[in-house]
Amino acid sequence: MQFQNTLAFARQMDTSDKLKEYRSEFHFPKVNGNEVIYFAGNSLGLQPKRSPSYVDAVMDDWASLAVEGHFHAKKPWWDYHERLSVPLAKIVGAKPQEVSVMNTLTVNLHLLMVSFYRPNGKRYKIICEEKAFPSDQYMLQSQLKFHGLDPKEALVEIQKRPGEHFWRTEDVVEMINKTGEELALVLIGGVNYYNGQVFNMKAITLAGRSVGAYVGWDLAHAAGNVSLELHDWDVDFAAWCSYKYLNSGPGNASGIFVNERYLNKDDIPRFEGWWGTKKETRFLMKSEFEPIATADAWHLSNPSILSLAPFLASLELFEEAGMPALVEKRNKITGYLEFVLRAIAKEVSGNFEIITPVDRGCQLSVLFHGEGKSLFKYLKNNGVIADWREPNVIRLAPAPLYCSFEDMYRFGQILKAGIVGKG
Ligand SMILES: *Cc1c(COP(=O)(O)O)cnc(C)c1O
Repeated sequence: MQFQNTLAFARQMDTSDKLKEYRSEFHFPKVNGNEVIYFAGNSLGLQPKRSPSYVDAVMDDWASLAVEGHFHAKKPWWDYHERLSVPLAKIVGAKPQEVSVMNTLTVNLHLLMVSFYRPNGKRYKIICEEKAFPSDQYMLQSQLKFHGLDPKEALVEIQKRPGEHFWRTEDVVEMINKTGEELALVLIGGVNYYNGQVFNMKAITLAGRSVGAYVGWDLAHAAGNVSLELHDWDVDFAAWCSYKYLNSGPGNASGIFVNERYLNKDDIPRFEGWWGTKKETRFLMKSEFEPIATADAWHLSNPSILSLAPFLASLELFEEAGMPALVEKRNKITGYLEFVLRAIAKEVSGNFEIITPVDRGCQLSVLFHGEGKSLFKYLKNNGVIADWREPNVIRLAPAPLYCSFEDMYRFGQILKAGIVGKG
C-alpha cells in the first residue's frame, strides 16, 4: 500500500477501516479540551464505555440479593469467571478448557512455577531473555532461591548480539540445545515490553520441548495484540495480564493457559484451594480435593466479581471485532505510523531510529539520539500519551481497536513541531 503523510489520506484510511466504529466504544482522556492521541494501550488500555454498566449490575445484584447472588444473580457469581474462558481462548489460540482467569500476572507465574518448574538433579536451569520485565526477573530469581539455587548460575539469559536491538531466534534455539539436559524451563515474554519484538514462539517452544524442558510464555504484551496458537504450538503454560491490550481495567485479573495434557492429572504438583475443586461437590465441604477438569483447577480463591465484570465487557468487544480483523488493522496502522515517523525524520532531520524489528505487534519503540526526554514532555503537553523508558526510548502502541489513522497523522505533525521547536 502506498501511504501518504497527509490528513486527507489518513481520513480516507479511517473511512475504509472496518473497525472504525469501535473507537466510539471507548473513553479518551482529554488534554486542553481535546481527546488525546493514545499510544499507551500497551500499559493500560482505555476504558470501554460499556464497562461501568457491567460493574453496576454486580453492585445491584449484591444490593438486592446479597449472598443469594452467588447462584441467583443474572450472571451468577459462582461460575462468573467461566464466561471469560471462551472469548479468551480464542484470543490466545487455545481450547476453552485450557484457559482460566484468576489472580494477577506475577502471582500466576509463581503458581505455575509450582507445576512447571521442578528442578531435578542436573536438570535445573531456566532460560529467559536478558533484561526481561523486572517482575519476571524477580519472580524467576526468587523461585530459584526458593529451590536453594543460585540465580547467577541457574538463570541463563539470552543476549542480543552487540550492536543489535533484537533477539535472534537461532541464538535462543542454540542456547536451548547447548543447555540440553540441564534445561528445566524456558520462560520468555512472547512480545518484549521494551522493543516490541514478537518472539518465534512456535520454534522456541518446539526447541525447548525437544530437549525435555517445559516451555512457558509471559503474554502480557501479546494477548490481544498478536495472533497466538498456544495449543497448536504445543506450549506447556502461559499467563498474561488483561489491563494492557485487553482493556479490562487497572490491575485487573490475569489469564492462564495450561496445556490440556496436564488437565485431569493426579500427579501434577499444584497449590490448591476450594475454587479449584469440582463445582458439583464444592459445597459439600469435603476434605478431599477433586480437581476441576479444566485450567480452573489452578484456582485458589473465589474471584473478585467486581473486577471480572469490566473484563467481561471488554472481552465482548474482542468477540465482536475478532482477532483476524484486529491483526489486519494493526498491520496497517502500525505500518502507517512507521511511515509517518520516517517522513517526519526526513522533513526535519529527526535524530531517532525505530528499534522494533519486523516481527512485531502494534508497538514501535523509538530510540532518540538527542533530547528524547524534553521531546516526550512536549508530546505530552500537546495531547500525545505515550510511554517513556530509560535511557532514551519512547514506546508508541496504536491499539487497533480504538486508534485512528488520523491520530497517526496528527501525531506526526505534533512530533515535527516538537523537533523543530527545539532545533
Ligand atoms: C505488565 C507486565 C507485568 C505486570 O505484572 P503484574 O503482576 O500484572 O503487576 C509482568 N510481566 C510483564 C512481561 C509485563 O509486561
